[in-house]
Amino acid sequence: MIPVTRPFSPPIEEYHELLKGIWQRNWFTNNGPLVNDLELKLKRYLGMKHLLYVSNGTIAIQIALKALNITKEVITTPFSYVATTSALVWEGCTPVFVDIDSETFNIDPKKIEAAITENTQAILATHCFGNPCDVEAIKVIADKHGLKVIYDAAHCFGTKYKGESIFKWGDVSTTSFHATKLYHTIEGGAIFTEDPELLKQMAWRRNFGHKGPEDFHGVGVNGKNSEFHAAMGVLNLNYIDQILAARKQQSGFYDDMLRKAALQKPKIASDVAFNHAYYPVVFESHEDMMRVKNNLEKKEIFPRRYFFPSLSGLNYVKETATPVSDDIASRILCLPLYFELSEVEVDMICRRILRVLNN
Ligand SMILES: *Cc1c(COP(=O)(O)O)cnc(C)c1O
Repeated sequence: MIPVTRPFSPPIEEYHELLKGIWQRNWFTNNGPLVNDLELKLKRYLGMKHLLYVSNGTIAIQIALKALNITKEVITTPFSYVATTSALVWEGCTPVFVDIDSETFNIDPKKIEAAITENTQAILATHCFGNPCDVEAIKVIADKHGLKVIYDAAHCFGTKYKGESIFKWGDVSTTSFHATKLYHTIEGGAIFTEDPELLKQMAWRRNFGHKGPEDFHGVGVNGKNSEFHAAMGVLNLNYIDQILAARKQQSGFYDDMLRKAALQKPKIASDVAFNHAYYPVVFESHEDMMRVKNNLEKKEIFPRRYFFPSLSGLNYVKETATPVSDDIASRILCLPLYFELSEVEVDMICRRILRVLNN
């Protein structure tokens, strides 16, 4: 079976070693030494001044919204994982969908201003598949209208823009370390901001609002993560260069094999060091996509329709027309991409795709 992704797993002996320390200390969660170590190492690796390690990428978005006091309309993308929208609705905000650019699959900055009303407070955009949004254009619009910017950068571990981590952009940037992401801590995520006051606030919001054992700053949530998750994160960080290199090489194999096929791939922005988080391909028609998907599944190869359906059609949002997103969503497949995927397997997948498309 070849799934769309498989979690990276470090040697089990290495995890055992770290487990021994957790047992000796008998310190399982609540800002333990491995969580602290992971936060330091991630900051160093990413070149970020601040970072909060949290329990997942969804709570990261929710804490950001709460800390920025966003409660009304938020301009967002219809082409993302459902958590981008559900986090907004869960926090009592109203998602306002702006269609995507047909070449990058990211929110189209040219269409943002038309969606701004007196109730708009923020823009929540996803760097889709690890490919940065037009962050400069979005910043100009946000500054002009006094809007906050939050980036759902769940796909972006390792992506750099102009030589620096893409996590530097936005008032707040969030990411996910879920097992399906290229760098993971089983479950987990992180929040980034360059603003020290906002950071402090998000830190107490992550820990029930605690101000010492008997006092509270305000309303908080349980957004902490455990020593067991941090241990996986510390180990996986030792392999991150290998992980990124493998994905780049595998993507290169796909590129070579599929060169002659009529497939669209996202246009990566310039000045970007891309992390090859996914290998999405857009077919000429929905029918072609479905024929390929069905054919691969017969051979136990499972690409995924990321992202389908468009979030603008969810049954808990105001339905909005987002024709570009709907069109891409109807024709896109993410092909298998994970650390152990071999060149032979990529070759086999591509041969099948080419055979279906040439028939
Ligand atoms: C994975 C993902 C999330 C959710 O992250 P979790 O850690 O699973 O909560 C949010 N947004 C996007 C775009 C994602 O891909």
